Amino acid sequence: MSETIFSKIIDGDIPSYKIYENDYVYAFLDISQVSKGHTLLIPKKASPNIYETDPETMKHIAEALPIVANAIKKAFNPDGLNIIQNNGEYASQSVFHIHFHLIPRYKEDIDGF
Ligand code: 5GP
Repeated sequence: MSETIFSKIIDGDIPSYKIYENDYVYAFLDISQVSKGHTLLIPKKASPNIYETDPETMKHIAEALPIVANAIKKAFNPDGLNIIQNNGEYASQSVFHIHFHLIPRYKEDIDGF
């Protein structure tokens, strides 16, 4: 697949704020924060979407998700957390390297509605 901006982030060619990393995955703050602590979890092995991601890579993501969620909980103390994953332009995917959004939610943001 063609390289995306996330490959450059993994390689350190583009700076990012790291939340968690192991041999298989990298988690970092989204440049456009939907809420405080909005984090992206990506596999280091690039694939464009859920359809083309191999089971081994999905296993690494599944193992990392609760670790990253707990890191966010510890750092930002949110009241809730959404995990979102977009596939395809018509599902709002803009970077074609599979990624999971972890979006902390805060009581005070909801109370205003
Ligand atoms: P998507 O819309 O594909 O589900 O999400 C892609 C996300 O990548 C967006 O939320 C966008 O803000 C984020 N993003 C795009 N370019 C960069 C970048 O250079 N650095 C970081 N940290 N996030 C980025």
